[in-house]
Amino acid sequence: MGMTAVHARSSRSVLGIAGEPIERWRSILEHASQITASTDLVGRLVATAFFEDSTRTRTSFTIAAGRLGATVVDLSVGSSSANKGESIVDTARTLAAMGVEALVVRSALAGLPGVIAQELPELVVINAGDGRHEHPTQALGDALTIAEATDCPSFDLSNRRVAIIGDVGASRVARSNVALLTGLGASVVCAGPPTLVPRTLEGLGCEVCWSMDDAIDGADIVMMLRIQFERQTAGQRAIASRRAYRSAFGMTEERAHRLEEHVLIMHPGPTNRGLEIDPSVADGPRSLIKQQVTNGVRARMAVLAACLSG
Ligand code: ASP
Repeated sequence: MGMTAVHARSSRSVLGIAGEPIERWRSILEHASQITASTDLVGRLVATAFFEDSTRTRTSFTIAAGRLGATVVDLSVGSSSANKGESIVDTARTLAAMGVEALVVRSALAGLPGVIAQELPELVVINAGDGRHEHPTQALGDALTIAEATDCPSFDLSNRRVAIIGDVGASRVARSNVALLTGLGASVVCAGPPTLVPRTLEGLGCEVCWSMDDAIDGADIVMMLRIQFERQTAGQRAIASRRAYRSAFGMTEERAHRLEEHVLIMHPGPTNRGLEIDPSVADGPRSLIKQQVTNGVRARMAVLAACLSG
């Protein structure tokens, strides 16, 4: 199967933010901003298949689907036939044959949701995070959070500047957010050490900077990222010293104190508390972390509603 086929977009699946018309996302955001619990998806079957660890995303999808009345089947990967050698595509085919209409999938393999969507065009595939590639529903919840917190009900973020700090190169959250936020008009700067934030990230449409203090100067939102220790390769540590990293790229209490009054702080979670963000900042008045979690559910409700409508 050629790369073009793998990256082909299904009209109903949500595989990634990049490469789709921004109007698709704007309309989902508009719906998310006013969505309420309903019975719209009663009788519809959604399955989640998480081949990589997750707490909030899986729960968030399950709650979102439940609020719309859908029935959710959680495929317990540890006890699925994937362990007997069944390919993930075969597993998806089996679920579709049982009446599953939407499959929410997380995998360490970048591009896997696209492969499933390509093989099973009748199934709606929703990417819940694939390797270092994309995490589209996280970005939709984050954009909703930014728009509400900075008073942009129309989702026109052209006067907003967002600094994304940390392990950007390994971050699917950053990739999806850069695509969505710049699409909505925001300016985005990514910062971290050059080992984690290569200059090539400029190709995504953001600025790249290797000084956190320069990056957060003039930002309205500072989005901190977790160091993805699990994506380190053997012999290649993400950071040499926790202390040096915290001091150069951590949202410490002292750094947060120096921010202009209106500046808000985000983090997709889970957090390495005391490394990329101090606990007092994560729980403090500038933090939007709780809103991100709440809005993640609203965004996923709107995504499921859009994907399964009709
Ligand atoms: N929860 C997010 C993800 O799955 C962010 C993270 O793990 O750091 O990508």
